[in-house]
Amino acid sequence: MTHVFHRHLRSTPPVADSAAGMRIRDADGRSYLDASGGAAVSALGHAHPDVLAAMHAQIDRLSYAHTGFFTTEVAEQLAHELMRSAPAGMSHAYFVSGGSEAVEAALKMARQYFVEIGQPQRTHFIARRQSYHGNTLGALAVGGNAWRRAPFAPLLVPATHVAPCYPYREQRADEAPAQYALRLAAELEAAILAQGADRVIAFVAETVGGATAGVLTPVADYFRAVRAVCDKYGVLLILDEVMCGMGRTGTLHASEQEGVVPDLLTIAKGLGGGYQPVGAVLAQGKIVDAMSQGSGFFQHGHTYLGHPVACAAALAVQKVIQRDELLPKVRADGEAFGAMLQQALGDHPRVGDIRGRGFFWGVELVADRGSKRPFPAALKLHAAIKKDAMARGLLCYPMGGTVNGVDGDHVLLAPPFIASRDDLQEITRLLSASIDAATRACDAAA
Ligand code: PMP
Repeated sequence: MTHVFHRHLRSTPPVADSAAGMRIRDADGRSYLDASGGAAVSALGHAHPDVLAAMHAQIDRLSYAHTGFFTTEVAEQLAHELMRSAPAGMSHAYFVSGGSEAVEAALKMARQYFVEIGQPQRTHFIARRQSYHGNTLGALAVGGNAWRRAPFAPLLVPATHVAPCYPYREQRADEAPAQYALRLAAELEAAILAQGADRVIAFVAETVGGATAGVLTPVADYFRAVRAVCDKYGVLLILDEVMCGMGRTGTLHASEQEGVVPDLLTIAKGLGGGYQPVGAVLAQGKIVDAMSQGSGFFQHGHTYLGHPVACAAALAVQKVIQRDELLPKVRADGEAFGAMLQQALGDHPRVGDIRGRGFFWGVELVADRGSKRPFPAALKLHAAIKKDAMARGLLCYPMGGTVNGVDGDHVLLAPPFIASRDDLQEITRLLSASIDAATRACDAAA
């Protein structure tokens, strides 16, 4: 009997035993091709020698020092490296242990900023319905997934949710992308005014949506339009790039492709590539300056902030990405991957939409393409795809459930940046077989 408190309490998953490159092996000797890097975590695949060497060297030298007493050379180097390539105006990186912690810290930084500059009446966040920002209570409060929020709703801080940018389902047939972007920005403006223009702290959004709807790529102009609305009312823009950032979409930060600069930017997953739990908030100078000139400290903190081994792993991952020119590779191979998915699945009668950028792709499944009607949630199509794919030796990241009152099943693909074109072909082949088998089984059960 297991004493580990697993997420699913009625079943125990296979035992992961070892991994190298694109593959994980379980204790029964089965090998899985990793097409999702867990949940979009892995950038360099498994057991990369440069990262292991950097971690070993750091452990031998200094494995832990509390940030209440010390800074470390490796944390300073990582922050320096991140600032070299950060969006304009960013001045500091705050290091945490993962994505939820990064979002939690960003929400508190935003609130404390307004307290410092004499606007303590700002107490409200606005975020988006189809979104995921983490599972801690603050991050969950801005998250828009009704299913995840439901049991905890009475405990969550005040947040209003507006429409996500979800062209496949929500852009009107007679609406150009630019008009759609303006309609969404107008909805954000109305939500700000409904709260009171001087009461809103920040608008929080994933630059490219991830764990709720299997990759939501924004239409051009959407983020420029929401940035303009935020600026009009002095509302901060927090972009959550925990999943879509650090090269995943082909540029280091996904926001680079949107032509906007956030006030706070959260990163995690790909930052350390899974070698260590690590995340960060990148902050605009004006926010850090307000705290520095005001109370002089950020009223926050965890025991493992800026953990030296986590920083060493992250620094090594980022150096390899640069040295091996993996971002141009992700852009070129990502386009090829999208074409492979389109060719294999574009005409499949149960595939409604295929969308993505770089090494970040989503496949949305529907029972009927014409009406875009999803499969009933009770059939758990996403779970059937995951099970079938694992039986074929493929790890992909299907998700499903009722979101915004609509049942939906999606598969998220986020291969490590080292994936070869042959790997991408193999992923496409195995995924297509799983989607075909699982949708046929659901058709039969419906
Ligand atoms: N934000 C986003 C956009 C995410 O995708 C996730 C994780 N899926 C989180 C925050 C939370 O990160 P973590 O699981 O590391 O706490």
